[in-house]
Amino acid sequence: MGGPLAIEGGAPVRRSLLPYGHQKIEEEDIRAVTEVLRSEWITTGPKVAEFEGALAAQVGAKHAVSFSSGTAALHGAVSAAGLGPDDEAVTTPMTFCATANCVFYAGARPVFADVSPDTLNLDPAEAARRVTPKTKALIAVDYAGHPADLDALRALASRKNLVFIEDACHALGARYKEHPVGGIADMTVFSFHPVKHITTGEGGMVATNDENLACRLRGFRNHGIAGDVRERQLQGQWHYDMTDLGFNYRLPDVACALGLSQLRRLDDNLARRREIARQYIAAFCGLPGLRTPEVRPDALPAWHLYPIRVEAGKFKTDRAGFFSALRAEGIGVNVHYIPVHFHSYYRDHLGYKAGEFPVAEAAYDQLISLPLFHGMEPQDVADVIEAVRKVASHFAAG
Ligand SMILES: *Cc1c(COP(=O)(O)O)cnc(C)c1O
Repeated sequence: MGGPLAIEGGAPVRRSLLPYGHQKIEEEDIRAVTEVLRSEWITTGPKVAEFEGALAAQVGAKHAVSFSSGTAALHGAVSAAGLGPDDEAVTTPMTFCATANCVFYAGARPVFADVSPDTLNLDPAEAARRVTPKTKALIAVDYAGHPADLDALRALASRKNLVFIEDACHALGARYKEHPVGGIADMTVFSFHPVKHITTGEGGMVATNDENLACRLRGFRNHGIAGDVRERQLQGQWHYDMTDLGFNYRLPDVACALGLSQLRRLDDNLARRREIARQYIAAFCGLPGLRTPEVRPDALPAWHLYPIRVEAGKFKTDRAGFFSALRAEGIGVNVHYIPVHFHSYYRDHLGYKAGEFPVAEAAYDQLISLPLFHGMEPQDVADVIEAVRKVASHFAAG
């Protein structure tokens, strides 16, 4: 089917490379940003609180505090959790390195625990095994947009007196047992990078129901100073006090206006992502050797990624061969993730070796993320399906 592979000189399924993720900007977004550019406040002004309020309402949390990126938001969360030198935080190796890096920012030590074979999310039993008297926080990731095992992790956190942080950078709009991701963990972190569900260019948010944590987060992103310049100007005050060492991690009004405008389309974006995932499942469920992402009955994923697994020994090639063949067909596949403990920095600083997290490592050898974003046209989806079928049938064993 489909003629010779592009990698062997055949015609590619498509000429332009389809990326794995991409933003979608509408005219109404541009109008919202332009309006702010013409206004009095282009950084911390009225749009910040408006965006924070709208996001908090969307994810069912009492408070949301914006940051200049998802990574800055993670830094804020570990700091608000009180992590410092000699402390440890248990987290997953199957994630973007920022999830674990933030623990180093606080001077503490990330400790990895293996993932569950179905969702590739932090396995609560493995996490429990890694808890020591030094552990102060648990950082789970909703891999690919599928909520982590939140009840079990929350129970572990309360049993061991840990702060439970959920890195939901993949999961804006996901639901767990009917509850939106955002009001379940002590702090839930979101990213508005262009490949995510909504974008502000760069940006992030921490959602929490805890007033005290929200207060610490607000101080942390503004140098450790309570209140902001605009409040003081409006009240005619000059005095301020820096009570903690913080950073300038503020998200400007220009970005918040874009976020507010994008947030209005979040439900449409999620519906489109779910529809594409449904089409992929229907197209690939009958292809032997390709494992599609599993969804637990209590989860409604937000489908940030669509990671398939090329099962070992089922094709006349491996993941690398599959990957190159799909790229040559014009499909911008990616790999999420190289397990974090494999990166040189982690090997050098923590001494982890291959073999310590067998489930994550075995998955890594097989993973390929197919393009999935809400701006995909029907033809883009059809191209991905055609290319995967073409490559799979070409390399089919026996
Ligand atoms: C995107 C992402 C981040 C970082 O977010 P930025 O906004 O790019 O800083 C952190 N963790 C995970 C799991 C992510 O996917």
